[in-house]
Amino acid sequence: KAEVALNTAKESGSEYLIFSRELETSGEILEILKQIKDDLKNNRITVFFQPKVDLKTGYIKGAEALMRCSVPPAQAIPVMTRYGLLFDIGNLILSSSLRTLKNLLEEGYNISMAVNISISQLLDPRFLPKLKYEIEKAEIPPEKLILEVTESEATINLKQVFETIKELVNYGVKISIDDFGTGYSSLSRLKLIKAHELKIDTSFVRNLPESDEDKKIVKFILEISELLNMTSVAEGIEKREQLEFLKREGCSLGQGFLFSPAVPEEEFRKLLKKRFEV
Ligand code: C2E
Ligand code: MG
Ligand code: MG
Ligand code: MG
Repeated sequence: KAEVALNTAKESGSEYLIFSRELETSGEILEILKQIKDDLKNNRITVFFQPKVDLKTGYIKGAEALMRCSVPPAQAIPVMTRYGLLFDIGNLILSSSLRTLKNLLEEGYNISMAVNISISQLLDPRFLPKLKYEIEKAEIPPEKLILEVTESEATINLKQVFETIKELVNYGVKISIDDFGTGYSSLSRLKLIKAHELKIDTSFVRNLPESDEDKKIVKFILEISELLNMTSVAEGIEKREQLEFLKREGCSLGQGFLFSPAVPEEEFRKLLKKRFEV
């Protein structure tokens, strides 16, 4: 499978060698690459927005920007990363999301915008200057931008990750730890990163409230976020019973198909007028 090949390439020291050898046998990766390049050429890479709902009030607190192209992000992003396309595409997503945020703030909606950033984007020396430039150009208060960082890779240059995050926090943008509990994130790393938000991965929400194990895990994550003064966000809420459990345990925000999937800006604007039943 393409994804396995990508991970193998990532984890090995000589990633280019192994990746290119896999390529010869993996038409799937090339097909994905071709589609991405096609999308780029035809301006078909866009951004949709999913609401982050306040579980106390039912109002939308913010949006999460999710990339949309002809390939699902989970497949597109590893290929973009490997072929050096993610930096530029990431910038497209970022500036487009900031434009939407700017519009919504000007219309009087007091919301934040969350953009997903992978570690490879974060570690690019061009990232921080570009981000500052975009924020200043759009004249947006930095604290309205949340960067959702996923630690899905056993990052080699941890020190550089921490330093970049520290600079970002000092600059004023907020950091959210995405998919907490799944990748390589650990409590010691969490303590070092002064993040503002902790996101409970879909995989822990899916079997609530039936699974005793997942109930314990979710309670534990909520305790950690409270201890560290972080906002907690549950992803993948599809059922009322999941919502009830999360509310009871004090989870601050929720996302999921129960409220809304990611939608285009115009549709998101309509959702902002709405109060969800929580
Ligand atoms: P994520 O940041 O954890 O985003 C949550 C994913 O769950 C999204 O998938 C979203 O559409 C999906 N989701 C939302 N509500 C529900 C629900 O109720 N049930 C289920 N089953 N799924 C739900 P999507 O859009 O396919 O994105 C997948 C991942 O790709 C994201 O996970 C994120 O890590 C990455 N990604 C997406 N857009 C970008 C981007 O612009 N840049 C980067 N670097 N990564 C991105
Ligand atoms: Mg995310
Ligand atoms: Mg997530
Ligand atoms: Mg997730």
